[in-house]
Amino acid sequence: MPGRYLVTGGLGFIGSNLVRHILATHPEARVVNLDAMTYAGNPENLADVENDARYEFVHGDVCDAEVVRDVMKRVDVVLHLAAETHVDRSIVSDAPFVRTNVLGTQTLLSSALHVGVDRFVQVSTDEVYGSLPWQDPDDQATPRHRFTEDTPLAPRSPYSATKAAADHLAFAYHETHGLDVVVTRCCNNLGPRQHPEKLIPLMIQRALADESLPVYGDGLQIRDWIWVGDQCTGIMAAAERGEAGGVYNFGARAERTNLTVVKDILTHLGKPESLIEHVADRAGHDRRYAIDPSRSETELGWSAEVDFADALERTVTWYRERLEGGA
Ligand code: NAD
Repeated sequence: MPGRYLVTGGLGFIGSNLVRHILATHPEARVVNLDAMTYAGNPENLADVENDARYEFVHGDVCDAEVVRDVMKRVDVVLHLAAETHVDRSIVSDAPFVRTNVLGTQTLLSSALHVGVDRFVQVSTDEVYGSLPWQDPDDQATPRHRFTEDTPLAPRSPYSATKAAADHLAFAYHETHGLDVVVTRCCNNLGPRQHPEKLIPLMIQRALADESLPVYGDGLQIRDWIWVGDQCTGIMAAAERGEAGGVYNFGARAERTNLTVVKDILTHLGKPESLIEHVADRAGHDRRYAIDPSRSETELGWSAEVDFADALERTVTWYRERLEGGA
């Protein structure tokens, strides 16, 4: 589908993978990337597409109504990813999360309504659903509880609370003002270009340097993992085929404990498990997330294509080449 897309937060992990995905798969598309270049926005993430005539970078803040209005006039579809995203930072200082994730989303929604864009995709997270009871990932016999699109929102960290607030605002604009809104909620992503403060790149980086790997608490917190490229195809499927006012969950049915993920990384790198160091747990640490992606599979014709082992190998290889190659 040709189209003019506004990607917010396009210099971040998922945003930069999404911009690349659109340029590669939608030859007639144009992409405007609005990014404030916070500590999480890395221009290197899109250095090789910056001369593509179909791509435009705008250095600006999603809370700046003037800048937002200016870019909004030039696009048909908004893919809103810009956010403060690190739970640990939201525990130490939550004001930037409220500002960007709530006020920034409101600023974009208001402008999208005023300008009259075709669709607004609010890229959200499974963390808005809260925490599930622990279930052994290897136990395939017992029926598994997973988040569906009907699961009530019950965020437990300042980060997820601000994302849930943004989702509610998006629905309010749909219900009250008739703005065409779709909300996507994805599980934990892995892949290239993620900031090294997050679990997988942090562990790869430290393991390569033979430094200790800090694992929160018992390390048995369970996350559901998906290859970043699969979330990108999901976002575009929701943008193109999602129902207005709908929610779409993306997941790959790949639950792992954090400890298992860390051990897998060590195995890939040929490093000893003695590098693992258990440290004090994160305050309010959610015990388990798991996504039921059935609706997206049935209604969007979308499914995750890359399994966890393949995704982890690609991710480890990408970081290893960069870190060991001195890039
Ligand atoms: P990230 O932290 O890697 O990138 C965030 C980007 O947003 C950065 O480029 C940053 O500069 C930009 N940004 C921050 N504040 C801004 C502001 N005020 N104005 C403009 N730009 C600003 O984040 P990510 O991991 O790529 O996540 C992207 C989106 O996907 C977020 O909305 C997040 O909630 C959601 N999400 C992430 C995951 C995951 O596993 N990473 C899973 C589900 C959903």
